[in-house]
Amino acid sequence: MDESVFPEELKPLIAFHGHYCPGILTGWRASKLAMKLLGATRDRDEEMVAIVENDACGADAIQFVLGCTFGKGNFHFRDYGKHVFTVFRRSDGKGVRLSLKAPPEGLTREESARRMIEERDENLFTVGEPLEPIPDMAEIRNSIVCSRCGERVMETRAKMARDGSPVCIPCSAAE
Ligand SMILES: [Zn+2]
Ligand SMILES: [Zn+2]
Repeated sequence: MDESVFPEELKPLIAFHGHYCPGILTGWRASKLAMKLLGATRDRDEEMVAIVENDACGADAIQFVLGCTFGKGNFHFRDYGKHVFTVFRRSDGKGVRLSLKAPPEGLTREESARRMIEERDENLFTVGEPLEPIPDMAEIRNSIVCSRCGERVMETRAKMARDGSPVCIPCSAAE
């Protein structure tokens, strides 16, 4: 795709994601709109929490631009295959649900990208209230040692072997 048309601010995002595509533009616009509606800036330490309903390119932009990330635990994936992004702010639980509107038919990939850059928010997303409650804060959990492989495993993920000793999920599956 022609990269000469994109705004300068997209460069770090494209570098992170690896290629330039309409998908990251969707996540970029959703992130910026969510921050605008919630009066927020990029997440540092779980001030926000995001729920994405697809695992396409846009999910990378949510993590990179919004700062809600898989590793921090404030990025939640629902495997619904929908272009819907829900974002909450923790301070008061306010949230927004952004549902991508269907684009006009027959656009080329270039035209889709240009539209995602230039189109007004209200023509891109339907804004509504979240349809699910705000997810819990990420917790730090204790680790225990798997009785089979000897590796440490988060307590909440450990299984009980037939002999009553704790095992990790792969070891449990191999029993
Ligand atoms: Zn992509
Ligand atoms: Zn194990």
